[in-house]
Amino acid sequence: MYDVKSKKAEEFIDHEEILDTLSYADANKNNEEVINAIIEKAKKRKGLNHREASVLLACELEEKNQEIYKLAEQIKLDFYGNRIVMFAPLYLSNYCVNGCTYCPYHLKNKHITRKKLTQEEIKNEVIALQDMGHKRLALEAGEDPMHNPMEYILECIQTIYSIKHKNGAIRRVNVNIAATTVENYRKLKEAGIGTYILFQETYHKESYLTLHPTGPKHDYCYHTEAMDRAMEGGIDDVGLGVLFGLDKYRYEFAGLLMHAEHLEATYGVGPHTISVPRLRNADDIDIRTFTNGISDEIFAKIVACIRISVPYTGMIVSTRESKECREKVLRLGISQVSGASKTSVGGYAHPEEEEENSEQFDVSDKRTLDEVVKWLMELGYLPSFCTACYREGRTGDRFMELCKSQQIQNCCHPNALMTLKEFLVDYASNSTKKIGDQMIEKELAKIPSEKVRQIVLEHIEAIENGTGNDFRF
Ligand code: SAM
Repeated sequence: MYDVKSKKAEEFIDHEEILDTLSYADANKNNEEVINAIIEKAKKRKGLNHREASVLLACELEEKNQEIYKLAEQIKLDFYGNRIVMFAPLYLSNYCVNGCTYCPYHLKNKHITRKKLTQEEIKNEVIALQDMGHKRLALEAGEDPMHNPMEYILECIQTIYSIKHKNGAIRRVNVNIAATTVENYRKLKEAGIGTYILFQETYHKESYLTLHPTGPKHDYCYHTEAMDRAMEGGIDDVGLGVLFGLDKYRYEFAGLLMHAEHLEATYGVGPHTISVPRLRNADDIDIRTFTNGISDEIFAKIVACIRISVPYTGMIVSTRESKECREKVLRLGISQVSGASKTSVGGYAHPEEEEENSEQFDVSDKRTLDEVVKWLMELGYLPSFCTACYREGRTGDRFMELCKSQQIQNCCHPNALMTLKEFLVDYASNSTKKIGDQMIEKELAKIPSEKVRQIVLEHIEAIENGTGNDFRF
């Protein structure tokens, strides 16, 4: 029985409820009256439930689809302005005891190079990342209680935060590691992590069991209930995601929104972010053997429908996607992108030799961070290296309050400008700096409060003169 507030995976992600939702969406995908009513509701910017959103995703009326895209663009602008938050993944270890059929880290893969970073190697990776200009990381690791126990992850987090190289600093460490216990989530919270990210991979239980045939990740309920345990452990910024390409995208989309509704209904705070990874080729993984791949068009529609369904939830797209695809989905709702990512273990400090292969998957966007930042600004976006919210204790519902109180223009926007300025002064090429400085001058005018604008101006001057940095509201 479907129960949004239940703590049992199979009740808040109820299979029958998803099937009913998909039938309802099919029955109404050409019903203009129903679709109009849902679009009108979405215009109120309070979001949509999984049933309503599924109708829009299924909608076949071209004119209505264009309205959906337009609304997604408008909501994106209203909630996030032109800011795009930057981050990079950092792979700690690819030792893994699971048997995931889509991931080259699976236990039976004997020809992948297994690596686990020492604290000294982490230091080198972090310096390489700081020297590009990164301030925010997402830690990645395979699941292996022997090689990568929680103590190892906690030690890595401590090392990362401690490294100060020139003006560099990693100011926010998000963590994307396997589902774990309440006690371990508490330890991660105490270590000062930002968001705990865990992709569901697929919400379809039967497929999940086949795709994860062996290892602790085989336990569908333990994996699906991970965010509940994370919340119980005090982590109130959690990031959801499914790996598109594993099962039918409409099923995954409904499941993803039901998961978001469950968190909101149970803990009063929805997911902080939603990621939209798509399956990629990798060492011994050939995506042609998976039959549920989605086109760029469907991918864009998924992003637009998520955007209008959960306006307060940030949306992340990685370098799995090409420059062209990223450009399209940035407009429709993405608020965070990675840049210059390496999915190999140790790959930032030491690019891998040909015979080594510790990568998790092939990245599509291989540009440098400077190129990505410049490209974003040329498209009119404001790249932001801001990490202020969680450092100021604005997590969970306190972050949501900031969004709802319309203070974003007086808070996030200035923080974006000041952190972009740091990037321009410390790491950018001359041509990027030139475009960036022009952009900052133009964007300063958008700060509503005269007083805040004056403070930001002073801070920006201090950054330029080298007399101060790390300012934040
Ligand atoms: N081991 C952890 C877990 O169980 O969630 C950490 C996550 S893993 C390092 C990061 C994510 O990469 C996975 O959750 C999965 O969605 C994604 N991934 C795995 N194989 C992939 C592939 N071939 N293409 C694209 N993404 C993949």
